[in-house]
Amino acid sequence: MKKIDILVIGAGPVGLFTVFEAGLLGLKCILIDNLDKPGGQCAELYPEKPIYDIPGVPFQTAQEHVDALIEQIKPFDYDIYLNERVDSIQEVNHEDEKYWEVTTTEDNKFLSKNIFIAAGAGSFEPRRPPNIDNPDQYLNNGVTYAVKSIDQYKDKNVFIFGGGDSALDWTVELSNVAKSLSLVHRRDAFRGAQHTEEMMRNLVKENKIKLLTPYLIDSILGDKKVSHVSLKNFETNEIETHEADELIFLFGLNKKLGPILDWEIDLNGKKISVNTENFQTSKDGIFAVGDINDYPGKLDLILSGFHETTLAVQEAYKRINPGERVPFGYTTSNSKLQEKLGVKK
Ligand SMILES: Cc1cc2nc3c(=O)[nH]c(=O)nc-3n(C[C@H](O)[C@H](O)[C@H](O)COP(=O)(O)OP(=O)(O)OC[C@H]3O[C@@H](n4cnc5c(N)ncnc54)[C@H](O)[C@@H]3O)c2cc1C
Repeated sequence: MKKIDILVIGAGPVGLFTVFEAGLLGLKCILIDNLDKPGGQCAELYPEKPIYDIPGVPFQTAQEHVDALIEQIKPFDYDIYLNERVDSIQEVNHEDEKYWEVTTTEDNKFLSKNIFIAAGAGSFEPRRPPNIDNPDQYLNNGVTYAVKSIDQYKDKNVFIFGGGDSALDWTVELSNVAKSLSLVHRRDAFRGAQHTEEMMRNLVKENKIKLLTPYLIDSILGDKKVSHVSLKNFETNEIETHEADELIFLFGLNKKLGPILDWEIDLNGKKISVNTENFQTSKDGIFAVGDINDYPGKLDLILSGFHETTLAVQEAYKRINPGERVPFGYTTSNSKLQEKLGVKK
């Protein structure tokens, strides 16, 4: 059983930045994530897409942003547990004090006075094509649910399925590298940004990509690796078979709150209700920061999560050191941090 100042559920950008803010106050964190790498949505869903609204950083790909956050927390001691999901939280008495005990799917147990739920959209799973039996048999052999590396699609026959922002964005982006690119959607209307849809339609006019509507995937063909895809035309009911190397299904995510629903914390729909003073939930010592929380005016932006967790960490400090003043200070005059970073005066 490991005891820690702050136990962070989720190693997305907000979970990672929590380590920094906690470190400034001398608090240690353990991060737990069910994905195989840190970075949450940024690393899993859109690593190569540019982000433009991180204050003071005019341009950074999502993966560069995650890498920078990991670099930023290097001066601080923290542990990270990947590929395991937090399944339960329960209140326990330890040395005559109240703690939260957290248990993971790997049966690891942790004790902490402060639990930070930085779980984003919950444990998320990409939606599979509903009419295909076991598409995952081709996973990473021609079937993917997110674009992780643009190079993978270079000189390939690519089919993108979906009608939202991700499908449109990647259609535009990969049109430059793919040998051929087809966007397949069940109707000729899209839910994504109008500007990107216009770019996509211009590429169709210039014969740089194909738009296949109203089509639905019928079957995936290939021995171990995808070689062809069959598509059904909704209007004619005809089935067409195309040579295919890569099928990218961008049907969005099944946002599964999963175990979080069982933790008896007040929710608003699929989000956790918090106060805006310290982002505590309906349970003392359990905080919710980043995309997972809800309060009036909430925006699902990385910068909102950074603000939220900064305030929550202040409260966590008070819970560990009752009656003590929080040692708030500017990083510009934090000599301990500068020492760790090797900054010369
Ligand atoms: C295509 C796209 C583009 C975007 N562009 C921008 C942008 O330009 N600017 C911007 O500010 N925001 C953008 N966003 C939103 C931004 O990515 C989110 O606001 C941000 O990722 C939220 O960070 P987070 O740390 O709260 O959660 P997440 O990044 O969702 O990370 C949460 C982590 O918690 C883990 N987790 C969940 N439940 C458990 C559990 N029970 N046990 C263990 N681990 C768990 C998940 O696996 C995940 O890794 C974009 C999002 C998308 C999808």
